[in-house]
Amino acid sequence: MKKIYLDNASTTPLRPEVVAEMTKVLLEDFGNPSSTHSFGRSAKVLIESARKSIAKQINATASEIIFTSCGTEANNWILRSCVRDLKVERIITSKIEHHAVLHTVEMLAKEYGIQVDFVNIKSNGEIDFTDLVELLSQGKKTLVSLMHVNNEIGTVLNLEKAVRLCQAHNALFHTDTVQSIGKTEIDVQEVPIDFLVSSAHKFHGPKGAGFAYIRKNSGLQPIFFGGEQEKGLRAGTEAVHQIVGMAKALDLAYENLDTERTYISELKRYAIERLEIDFPESKINGEETFYNILNVNLPLSEEKASMLLFHLDMKGIAVSRGSACQSGSVKRSHVLAEILDNEEIKKPNLRISFSHYNTKEDIDVLIETLKSV
Ligand code: PLP
Repeated sequence: MKKIYLDNASTTPLRPEVVAEMTKVLLEDFGNPSSTHSFGRSAKVLIESARKSIAKQINATASEIIFTSCGTEANNWILRSCVRDLKVERIITSKIEHHAVLHTVEMLAKEYGIQVDFVNIKSNGEIDFTDLVELLSQGKKTLVSLMHVNNEIGTVLNLEKAVRLCQAHNALFHTDTVQSIGKTEIDVQEVPIDFLVSSAHKFHGPKGAGFAYIRKNSGLQPIFFGGEQEKGLRAGTEAVHQIVGMAKALDLAYENLDTERTYISELKRYAIERLEIDFPESKINGEETFYNILNVNLPLSEEKASMLLFHLDMKGIAVSRGSACQSGSVKRSHVLAEILDNEEIKKPNLRISFSHYNTKEDIDVLIETLKSV
């Protein structure tokens, strides 16, 4: 049975070139980058050239890139340090953020008593900018944390607009770009974001590697302490092979961006067309969503719905219901809960997310399988 992977917002398969690069490092460059001998120095060189190359991709300087273990860690660090060290008294965020942001903000509210405001979300999944302006005009030292591309429905934040509003109101701006880095252009000079986070496994790199972009002179402090790695901001021996793999994956992602974006957009268009033909009553969640994510409500009975993922899995097809952290449990999606009414939210929902490794045949098999449920 040919397996079909349509869950690329959850994680992506590694590119072979990335595996080759990582394997080379694992076999040949095992030195500790903090050691002063040649083994250590070689490893250090690898890390610093990875940093330079990642920085270049988003038009940052190398010193503004700090390696972390994942996107979750980077989000936690930035939000926490903003409150603890930069004395942010209020966070404006949204209820459709990833839990790496939402749960951190909840915890910070408990620990530090900061004010948390949730900006309104429109029924198409977009941020209500009028509400954001209203919230921003209330004074207090504020951090705005809004994700770029939503991992469940694929709605896209207008980063430029969000940043300009924050600047005009003297608020700091953090964005979770885990779903967008490597899949769209981001230029931190053109769009002066204060903090962003990324995760290698979402752009065909390894799991266990991410990075934070921290704008120069931001004053952010470490959340844990130890060695002098990452200028003391993130202690712990660097995972050299992961970092090198991440840089390689990002290079390849941007090198192939135009071709792959066009190809994947066409796959998504085709999937929508097939859904419209075979499931005319299906409904896409979110409007003008990102080109690799398609979130759809299917006109199936509740009884069939409960078997849906299991049935697809038995046929070797991987898609998601809600977000990855929630699949496997029956928890409702906190994102869909914000944009759907009581009736719509009961309907079976699928998140289909594509990569350049998918084909139209994959979509045909998915649709035929859905028809047989
Ligand atoms: N933020 C978003 C938008 C995500 O989609 C994810 C992963 O699903 C994360 C954060 C967490 O990233 P990581 O898996 O690197 O911790």
